[in-house]
Amino acid sequence: MKYYNLKNPLVKTGFREAVERGISPDMGLFMPERIPRLSDDFFRRLASMTLPEIGMEVGSLYTGDDIPRSVMRQICGEAFDFPVIIRRLDERKQVLELFHGPTAAFKDFGARFMAGCFRYFSSRDDKRRVVLVATSGDTGGAIASSFLGVEGVDVIILYPSGKVSNLQENQLTTLGRNITAIEVEGSFDDCQAMVKSALSGSANRTNLKLTSANSINIARLIPQSFYYYYAIGRSGSGMAVSVPGGNFGNITAAAMARRSGLGIHHLVAATNVNRVVPDYLKTGIYTPAESVATIANAMDVGNPGNFVRLRRIFDDDYEAIKDSVSGYWFDDDRIREHIGQEYQRTGYLLDPHSAVASLGLEAYLNQHPGTVGIFVATAHPAKFREIVEPLTGQNVEIPESLRNFLAGKKQSVKMKAGPQNLEEYLDDRYQNE
Ligand SMILES: *Cc1c(COP(=O)(O)O)cnc(C)c1O
Repeated sequence: MKYYNLKNPLVKTGFREAVERGISPDMGLFMPERIPRLSDDFFRRLASMTLPEIGMEVGSLYTGDDIPRSVMRQICGEAFDFPVIIRRLDERKQVLELFHGPTAAFKDFGARFMAGCFRYFSSRDDKRRVVLVATSGDTGGAIASSFLGVEGVDVIILYPSGKVSNLQENQLTTLGRNITAIEVEGSFDDCQAMVKSALSGSANRTNLKLTSANSINIARLIPQSFYYYYAIGRSGSGMAVSVPGGNFGNITAAAMARRSGLGIHHLVAATNVNRVVPDYLKTGIYTPAESVATIANAMDVGNPGNFVRLRRIFDDDYEAIKDSVSGYWFDDDRIREHIGQEYQRTGYLLDPHSAVASLGLEAYLNQHPGTVGIFVATAHPAKFREIVEPLTGQNVEIPESLRNFLAGKKQSVKMKAGPQNLEEYLDDRYQNE
Protein backbone atom coordinates (compact mmCIF):
# COMPACT_ATOMS: atom_id res chain seq x y z
CA MET A 1 0.00 0.00 0.00
CA LYS A 2 1.23 3.48 -0.89
CA TYR A 3 0.25 6.70 0.83
CA TYR A 4 -0.08 10.01 -0.96
CA ASN A 5 0.23 13.51 0.36
CA LEU A 6 -3.17 15.22 0.26
CA LYS A 7 -1.49 18.50 -0.67
CA ASN A 8 0.64 16.98 -3.38
CA PRO A 9 -0.91 13.72 -4.55
CA LEU A 10 1.94 12.83 -6.87
CA VAL A 11 4.30 12.34 -3.93
CA LYS A 12 3.87 8.82 -2.56
CA THR A 13 5.47 6.99 0.35
CA GLY A 14 5.16 3.63 2.07
CA PHE A 15 3.46 2.97 5.40
CA ARG A 16 6.62 3.22 7.43
CA GLU A 17 7.65 6.58 6.09
CA ALA A 18 4.13 7.97 6.44
CA VAL A 19 4.07 6.87 10.08
CA GLU A 20 7.54 8.10 10.91
CA ARG A 21 6.88 11.49 9.36
CA GLY A 22 3.35 11.84 10.72
CA ILE A 23 2.75 14.73 8.34
CA SER A 24 4.64 15.78 5.23
CA PRO A 25 6.94 18.84 5.39
CA ASP A 26 4.37 20.92 3.48
CA MET A 27 1.74 19.98 6.13
CA GLY A 28 -0.07 17.60 3.82
CA LEU A 29 -1.72 14.59 5.47
CA PHE A 30 -0.93 11.11 4.24
CA MET A 31 -3.78 9.14 2.79
CA PRO A 32 -3.87 5.52 1.61
CA GLU A 33 -3.95 5.56 -2.19
CA ARG A 34 -7.02 3.38 -2.09
CA ILE A 35 -9.30 1.95 0.59
CA PRO A 36 -8.92 -1.81 0.18
CA ARG A 37 -12.14 -3.76 -0.24
CA LEU A 38 -12.47 -6.71 2.08
CA SER A 39 -13.48 -10.07 0.71
CA ASP A 40 -16.84 -11.81 1.15
CA ASP A 41 -14.95 -14.49 2.99
CA PHE A 42 -13.71 -11.94 5.52
CA PHE A 43 -17.25 -10.70 6.16
CA ARG A 44 -18.54 -14.25 6.53
CA ARG A 45 -15.98 -14.93 9.25
CA LEU A 46 -16.30 -11.54 10.91
CA ALA A 47 -18.88 -12.41 13.57
CA SER A 48 -16.51 -14.87 15.21
CA MET A 49 -13.25 -12.93 14.84
CA THR A 50 -11.51 -11.35 17.82
CA LEU A 51 -10.33 -7.77 17.65
CA PRO A 52 -6.64 -8.78 17.28
CA GLU A 53 -7.62 -11.12 14.43
CA ILE A 54 -9.51 -8.34 12.69
CA GLY A 55 -6.57 -6.02 13.26
CA MET A 56 -4.15 -8.49 11.79
CA GLU A 57 -6.16 -8.98 8.60
CA VAL A 58 -7.31 -5.43 8.01
CA GLY A 59 -4.09 -3.87 9.29
CA SER A 60 -1.90 -5.96 7.00
CA LEU A 61 -3.73 -4.58 3.97
CA TYR A 62 -2.63 -1.10 5.02
CA THR A 63 0.91 -1.80 6.19
CA GLY A 64 1.94 -4.06 3.33
CA ASP A 65 5.55 -5.23 3.37
CA ASP A 66 6.62 -2.59 5.86
CA ILE A 67 5.44 -4.80 8.70
CA PRO A 68 5.65 -8.58 8.28
CA ARG A 69 2.43 -10.44 9.07
CA SER A 70 3.97 -12.24 12.03
CA VAL A 71 4.96 -8.88 13.55
CA MET A 72 1.52 -7.50 12.80
CA ARG A 73 -0.05 -10.39 14.66
CA GLN A 74 2.11 -9.61 17.66
CA ILE A 75 1.45 -5.86 17.55
CA CYS A 76 -2.33 -6.40 17.46
CA GLY A 77 -2.23 -9.08 20.14
CA GLU A 78 -0.32 -6.82 22.51
CA ALA A 79 -2.15 -3.59 21.65
CA PHE A 80 -5.71 -4.95 21.94
CA ASP A 81 -5.45 -7.02 25.09
CA PHE A 82 -8.45 -5.40 26.80
CA PRO A 83 -12.16 -5.92 26.15
CA VAL A 84 -14.47 -4.11 23.74
CA ILE A 85 -18.01 -4.26 25.10
CA ILE A 86 -21.32 -3.84 23.26
CA ARG A 87 -24.45 -3.21 25.32
CA ARG A 88 -28.07 -2.85 24.31
CA LEU A 89 -29.78 0.12 25.95
CA ASP A 90 -33.16 -0.29 24.28
CA GLU A 91 -34.79 -1.76 21.17
CA ARG A 92 -33.11 0.65 18.82
CA LYS A 93 -30.02 1.79 20.62
CA GLN A 94 -26.76 0.05 21.43
CA VAL A 95 -23.49 1.35 22.79
CA LEU A 96 -19.97 0.37 21.77
CA GLU A 97 -17.74 0.84 24.82
CA LEU A 98 -14.20 1.68 23.79
CA PHE A 99 -12.96 2.79 27.20
CA HIS A 100 -11.69 -0.41 28.78
CA GLY A 101 -8.04 0.17 27.91
CA PRO A 102 -5.32 1.39 30.28
CA THR A 103 -6.23 5.09 30.12
CA ALA A 104 -10.00 4.48 29.92
CA ALA A 105 -10.47 6.28 26.61
CA PHE A 106 -10.76 5.05 23.03
CA LYS A 107 -7.45 6.65 22.11
CA ASP A 108 -5.74 3.62 23.64
CA PHE A 109 -6.52 1.73 20.41
CA GLY A 110 -4.64 4.06 18.10
CA ALA A 111 -1.88 4.88 20.55
CA ARG A 112 -1.06 1.28 21.41
CA PHE A 113 -1.05 0.19 17.77
CA MET A 114 1.19 3.09 16.85
CA ALA A 115 3.56 2.35 19.75
CA GLY A 116 3.78 -1.24 18.52
CA CYS A 117 4.77 -0.01 15.05
CA PHE A 118 7.43 2.25 16.57
CA ARG A 119 8.78 -0.50 18.75
CA TYR A 120 9.28 -2.56 15.61
CA PHE A 121 10.78 0.28 13.52
CA SER A 122 13.04 1.29 16.36
CA SER A 123 14.37 -2.25 16.77
CA ARG A 124 15.70 -2.08 13.21
CA ASP A 125 18.19 0.82 13.57
CA ASP A 126 19.73 2.93 16.31
CA LYS A 127 18.34 6.35 15.44
CA ARG A 128 16.62 8.29 18.19
CA ARG A 129 12.97 8.94 17.50
CA VAL A 130 11.07 11.81 19.06
CA VAL A 131 7.30 11.67 19.07
CA LEU A 132 5.53 15.00 19.51
CA VAL A 133 1.90 15.19 20.51
CA ALA A 134 -0.49 18.03 21.23
CA THR A 135 -3.39 17.06 23.44
CA SER A 136 -6.66 18.62 24.51
CA GLY A 137 -7.18 15.91 27.09
CA ASP A 138 -7.13 12.25 26.29
CA THR A 139 -4.60 11.81 23.50
CA GLY A 140 -1.58 12.62 25.62
CA GLY A 141 -2.42 10.10 28.31
CA ALA A 142 -2.98 7.32 25.82
CA ILE A 143 0.27 8.07 24.00
CA ALA A 144 2.24 8.36 27.25
CA SER A 145 0.98 5.06 28.60
CA SER A 146 1.45 3.28 25.25
CA PHE A 147 5.01 4.51 24.60
CA LEU A 148 6.28 4.25 28.17
CA GLY A 149 9.59 2.43 28.12
CA VAL A 150 9.78 1.93 24.33
CA GLU A 151 13.53 1.83 23.58
CA GLY A 152 14.97 4.61 21.44
CA VAL A 153 11.79 6.72 21.46
CA ASP A 154 11.23 9.95 23.42
CA VAL A 155 7.70 11.27 23.75
CA ILE A 156 7.04 14.98 24.23
CA ILE A 157 3.46 15.96 25.06
CA LEU A 158 2.12 19.52 24.85
CA TYR A 159 -1.07 20.36 26.72
CA PRO A 160 -2.93 23.59 27.48
CA SER A 161 -2.35 24.62 31.07
CA GLY A 162 -5.48 24.55 33.23
CA LYS A 163 -7.67 23.17 30.44
CA VAL A 164 -7.47 19.43 31.14
CA SER A 165 -8.95 17.57 34.12
CA ASN A 166 -6.77 16.62 37.09
CA LEU A 167 -6.88 12.99 36.19
CA GLN A 168 -5.94 13.74 32.58
CA GLU A 169 -3.07 15.90 33.77
CA ASN A 170 -1.81 13.13 36.02
CA GLN A 171 -1.85 10.73 33.12
CA LEU A 172 0.46 13.06 31.21
CA THR A 173 2.77 14.23 33.90
CA THR A 174 3.42 11.38 36.32
CA LEU A 175 4.94 8.61 34.23
CA GLY A 176 8.43 10.07 33.71
CA ARG A 177 11.12 7.93 32.01
CA ASN A 178 10.95 8.59 28.25
CA ILE A 179 7.81 10.76 28.60
CA THR A 180 8.05 14.57 28.94
CA ALA A 181 5.00 16.78 29.52
CA ILE A 182 5.09 20.42 28.40
CA GLU A 183 2.49 22.67 29.97
CA VAL A 184 1.68 25.44 27.49
CA GLU A 185 0.18 28.75 28.53
CA GLY A 186 -2.39 28.78 25.77
CA SER A 187 -5.09 26.74 24.04
CA PHE A 188 -5.07 23.32 22.42
CA ASP A 189 -4.90 25.06 19.06
CA ASP A 190 -1.66 26.77 20.21
CA CYS A 191 -0.22 23.37 21.18
CA GLN A 192 -1.18 21.93 17.83
CA ALA A 193 0.35 24.87 15.96
CA MET A 194 3.62 24.41 17.88
CA VAL A 195 3.80 20.73 17.02
CA LYS A 196 2.97 21.34 13.37
CA SER A 197 5.61 24.00 13.09
CA ALA A 198 8.31 21.86 14.73
CA LEU A 199 7.48 19.07 12.31
CA SER A 200 7.61 21.28 9.25
CA GLY A 201 11.03 22.52 10.42
CA SER A 202 12.16 18.98 11.03
CA ALA A 203 13.55 18.60 7.53
CA ASN A 204 16.53 20.57 8.92
CA ARG A 205 17.10 18.08 11.71
CA THR A 206 18.52 15.19 9.78
CA ASN A 207 19.98 13.58 12.90
CA LEU A 208 16.65 13.21 14.64
CA LYS A 209 13.52 11.38 13.55
CA LEU A 210 10.77 13.71 14.61
CA THR A 211 7.16 12.65 14.21
CA SER A 212 3.67 13.41 15.47
CA ALA A 213 1.37 11.10 17.36
CA ASN A 214 -1.68 13.26 16.80
CA SER A 215 -4.65 11.67 15.16
CA ILE A 216 -3.32 12.89 11.84
CA ASN A 217 -0.84 10.00 12.05
CA ILE A 218 -2.17 7.16 9.94
CA ALA A 219 -0.85 4.63 12.45
CA ARG A 220 -3.50 5.92 14.83
CA LEU A 221 -6.20 6.24 12.22
CA ILE A 222 -6.06 2.73 10.76
CA PRO A 223 -6.55 0.75 14.01
CA GLN A 224 -9.54 2.91 14.88
CA SER A 225 -11.38 1.19 12.06
CA PHE A 226 -10.91 -2.28 13.60
CA TYR A 227 -13.55 -1.92 16.30
CA TYR A 228 -16.19 -0.94 13.76
CA TYR A 229 -15.73 -4.29 12.04
CA TYR A 230 -15.93 -5.93 15.43
CA ALA A 231 -19.14 -4.09 16.37
CA ILE A 232 -20.97 -4.57 13.09
CA GLY A 233 -19.77 -8.18 12.94
CA ARG A 234 -21.46 -8.84 16.25
CA SER A 235 -24.48 -6.55 16.11
CA GLY A 236 -25.36 -6.98 12.44
CA SER A 237 -25.25 -4.89 9.28
CA GLY A 238 -27.50 -1.98 8.59
CA MET A 239 -27.05 0.07 11.73
CA ALA A 240 -26.39 3.77 11.97
CA VAL A 241 -23.16 4.51 13.82
CA SER A 242 -22.85 7.70 15.87
CA VAL A 243 -19.36 8.97 16.64
CA PRO A 244 -18.43 11.93 18.88
CA GLY A 245 -16.12 14.14 16.80
CA GLY A 246 -13.14 16.25 17.86
CA ASN A 247 -10.34 16.00 15.35
CA PHE A 248 -12.58 13.62 13.39
CA GLY A 249 -10.15 10.71 13.26
CA ASN A 250 -12.59 8.27 14.79
CA ILE A 251 -15.40 8.91 12.32
CA THR A 252 -12.93 8.99 9.42
CA ALA A 253 -11.85 5.48 10.43
CA ALA A 254 -15.51 4.43 10.48
CA ALA A 255 -15.97 5.89 6.99
CA MET A 256 -12.93 3.92 5.80
CA ALA A 257 -14.39 0.71 7.20
CA ARG A 258 -17.69 1.45 5.47
CA ARG A 259 -15.90 2.16 2.20
CA SER A 260 -14.15 -1.21 2.50
CA GLY A 261 -17.54 -2.91 2.39
CA LEU A 262 -18.62 -2.94 6.05
CA GLY A 263 -22.41 -2.71 6.44
CA ILE A 264 -22.73 0.61 8.25
CA HIS A 265 -26.08 2.06 7.23
CA HIS A 266 -25.29 5.69 7.99
CA LEU A 267 -22.76 7.76 9.93
CA VAL A 268 -23.65 10.36 12.51
CA ALA A 269 -21.09 13.08 13.28
CA ALA A 270 -21.99 14.35 16.74
CA THR A 271 -20.23 17.35 18.29
CA ASN A 272 -20.43 19.79 21.16
CA VAL A 273 -20.76 23.49 20.29
CA ASN A 274 -17.60 23.22 18.20
CA ARG A 275 -19.89 22.65 15.29
CA VAL A 276 -17.97 23.36 12.09
CA VAL A 277 -18.63 19.89 10.67
CA PRO A 278 -22.37 19.72 11.42
CA ASP A 279 -22.58 23.21 9.91
CA TYR A 280 -20.71 22.04 6.83
CA LEU A 281 -22.99 19.04 6.43
CA LYS A 282 -25.97 21.36 6.53
CA THR A 283 -24.68 24.12 4.27
CA GLY A 284 -21.77 22.76 2.24
CA ILE A 285 -19.60 25.54 3.59
CA TYR A 286 -16.65 24.75 5.84
CA THR A 287 -15.61 27.58 8.13
CA PRO A 288 -12.90 26.78 10.69
CA ALA A 289 -13.40 28.58 13.98
CA GLU A 290 -11.62 29.20 17.27
CA SER A 291 -12.24 26.27 19.58
CA VAL A 292 -14.71 26.81 22.43
CA ALA A 293 -14.22 25.16 25.85
CA THR A 294 -16.95 22.66 26.81
CA ILE A 295 -17.51 19.85 29.32
CA ALA A 296 -16.62 17.37 26.54
CA ASN A 297 -13.15 18.86 26.35
CA ALA A 298 -11.44 16.22 24.23
CA MET A 299 -13.74 17.39 21.46
CA ASP A 300 -12.98 21.10 21.74
CA VAL A 301 -11.51 21.49 18.27
CA GLY A 302 -12.24 24.41 15.98
CA ASN A 303 -10.61 23.09 12.83
CA PRO A 304 -10.63 19.28 12.86
CA GLY A 305 -7.38 17.91 11.44
CA ASN A 306 -8.90 14.82 9.86
CA PHE A 307 -11.79 16.54 8.15
CA VAL A 308 -9.89 16.73 4.83
CA ARG A 309 -9.48 12.97 4.96
CA LEU A 310 -13.15 12.40 5.67
CA ARG A 311 -14.00 14.50 2.65
CA ARG A 312 -11.45 12.66 0.52
CA ILE A 313 -13.06 9.32 1.32
CA PHE A 314 -16.18 10.72 -0.34
CA ASP A 315 -14.11 12.07 -3.26
CA ASP A 316 -14.56 15.63 -1.96
CA ASP A 317 -18.16 15.46 -3.15
CA TYR A 318 -20.50 17.33 -0.84
CA GLU A 319 -23.61 15.48 -2.05
CA ALA A 320 -21.94 12.11 -1.47
CA ILE A 321 -20.83 12.94 2.04
CA LYS A 322 -24.22 14.43 2.90
CA ASP A 323 -25.97 11.23 1.78
CA SER A 324 -23.84 9.14 4.11
CA VAL A 325 -23.12 11.39 7.09
CA SER A 326 -25.49 13.47 9.23
CA GLY A 327 -24.26 16.04 11.71
CA TYR A 328 -25.75 17.19 15.00
CA TRP A 329 -24.33 19.41 17.73
CA PHE A 330 -25.27 19.95 21.37
CA ASP A 331 -24.45 22.55 24.00
CA ASP A 332 -23.29 21.81 27.54
CA ASP A 333 -26.77 22.19 29.04
CA ARG A 334 -28.18 19.62 26.67
CA ILE A 335 -25.26 17.26 27.35
CA ARG A 336 -25.75 17.57 31.12
CA GLU A 337 -29.47 17.04 30.85
CA HIS A 338 -28.95 13.92 28.70
CA ILE A 339 -26.50 12.36 31.16
CA GLY A 340 -29.12 12.67 33.90
CA GLN A 341 -32.01 11.53 31.70
CA GLU A 342 -30.28 8.48 30.26
CA TYR A 343 -29.30 7.40 33.73
CA GLN A 344 -32.92 7.71 34.85
CA ARG A 345 -34.25 5.97 31.76
CA THR A 346 -31.80 3.08 31.39
CA GLY A 347 -29.43 3.12 34.37
CA TYR A 348 -26.54 3.75 32.01
CA LEU A 349 -23.77 6.17 32.96
CA LEU A 350 -22.46 8.36 30.16
CA ASP A 351 -19.38 10.55 30.21
CA PRO A 352 -19.90 13.91 28.42
CA HIS A 353 -18.25 12.74 25.17
CA SER A 354 -20.26 9.56 24.97
CA ALA A 355 -23.35 11.60 25.83
CA VAL A 356 -22.79 13.69 22.70
CA ALA A 357 -22.68 10.52 20.60
CA SER A 358 -25.78 9.20 22.32
CA LEU A 359 -27.62 12.46 21.65
CA GLY A 360 -26.51 12.38 18.02
CA LEU A 361 -27.82 8.86 17.57
CA GLU A 362 -31.09 9.75 19.24
CA ALA A 363 -31.54 12.74 16.94
CA TYR A 364 -30.90 10.58 13.90
CA LEU A 365 -33.19 7.75 15.03
CA ASN A 366 -35.97 10.24 15.78
CA GLN A 367 -35.77 11.55 12.23
CA HIS A 368 -35.57 8.06 10.72
CA PRO A 369 -38.25 5.76 12.10
CA GLY A 370 -37.50 2.09 11.68
CA THR A 371 -33.74 2.51 11.89
CA VAL A 372 -31.48 1.15 14.62
CA GLY A 373 -28.05 2.25 15.67
CA ILE A 374 -25.03 2.10 17.88
CA PHE A 375 -23.14 4.99 19.41
CA VAL A 376 -19.52 5.06 20.43
CA ALA A 377 -18.69 5.58 24.11
CA THR A 378 -15.20 7.06 24.03
CA ALA A 379 -14.38 7.68 27.69
CA HIS A 380 -15.15 5.96 30.97
CA PRO A 381 -17.57 8.05 33.07
CA ALA A 382 -15.07 7.92 35.94
CA LYS A 383 -12.76 10.18 33.96
CA PHE A 384 -15.36 12.90 34.34
CA ARG A 385 -16.88 12.06 37.66
CA GLU A 386 -16.98 15.71 38.82
CA ILE A 387 -19.54 16.19 36.05
CA VAL A 388 -21.30 12.82 36.02
CA GLU A 389 -21.84 12.26 39.75
CA PRO A 390 -23.92 15.36 40.54
CA LEU A 391 -26.07 14.77 37.44
CA THR A 392 -26.88 11.18 38.29
CA GLY A 393 -26.60 11.17 42.07
CA GLN A 394 -24.51 8.07 41.56
CA ASN A 395 -21.00 7.28 42.74
CA VAL A 396 -18.86 6.40 39.77
CA GLU A 397 -16.39 3.70 40.52
CA ILE A 398 -12.88 4.40 39.25
CA PRO A 399 -11.36 1.54 37.26
CA GLU A 400 -8.12 0.25 38.65
CA SER A 401 -6.04 1.40 35.69
CA LEU A 402 -7.02 5.00 36.48
CA ARG A 403 -6.58 4.71 40.22
CA ASN A 404 -2.86 4.20 39.72
CA PHE A 405 -2.56 7.67 38.21
CA LEU A 406 -4.10 9.48 41.14
CA ALA A 407 -1.10 9.02 43.39
CA GLY A 408 1.81 9.99 41.12
CA LYS A 409 3.91 13.14 41.34
CA LYS A 410 3.33 15.79 38.67
CA GLN A 411 6.33 16.84 36.59
CA SER A 412 6.02 19.27 33.69
CA VAL A 413 8.02 21.81 31.71
CA LYS A 414 6.23 25.18 31.57
CA MET A 415 6.27 26.95 28.22
CA LYS A 416 4.70 30.04 26.67
CA ALA A 417 2.67 29.53 23.50
CA GLY A 418 4.56 30.08 20.24
CA PRO A 419 6.32 27.75 17.83
CA GLN A 420 9.79 29.23 18.46
CA ASN A 421 9.64 28.16 22.12
CA LEU A 422 9.26 24.50 21.24
CA GLU A 423 11.96 24.76 18.58
CA GLU A 424 14.37 26.21 21.12
CA TYR A 425 13.55 23.49 23.60
CA LEU A 426 14.24 20.79 21.01
CA ASP A 427 17.48 22.48 19.90
CA ASP A 428 18.64 22.62 23.51
CA ARG A 429 17.69 19.12 24.41
CA TYR A 430 19.03 17.42 21.31
CA GLN A 431 21.97 19.66 20.43
CA ASN A 432 24.45 16.81 20.63
CA GLU A 433 22.55 14.36 18.46
C1 LIG B 1 -10.36 12.39 21.24
C2 LIG B 1 -11.68 12.12 21.80
C3 LIG B 1 -12.83 12.30 21.03
C4 LIG B 1 -12.78 12.81 19.62
O1 LIG B 1 -12.21 11.88 18.73
P1 LIG B 1 -11.65 12.33 17.31
O2 LIG B 1 -11.11 11.12 16.70
O3 LIG B 1 -10.60 13.36 17.57
O4 LIG B 1 -12.80 12.90 16.57
C5 LIG B 1 -14.04 11.96 21.60
N1 LIG B 1 -14.12 11.51 22.87
C6 LIG B 1 -13.03 11.34 23.63
C7 LIG B 1 -13.20 10.86 25.02
C8 LIG B 1 -11.78 11.64 23.12
O5 LIG B 1 -10.72 11.46 23.89
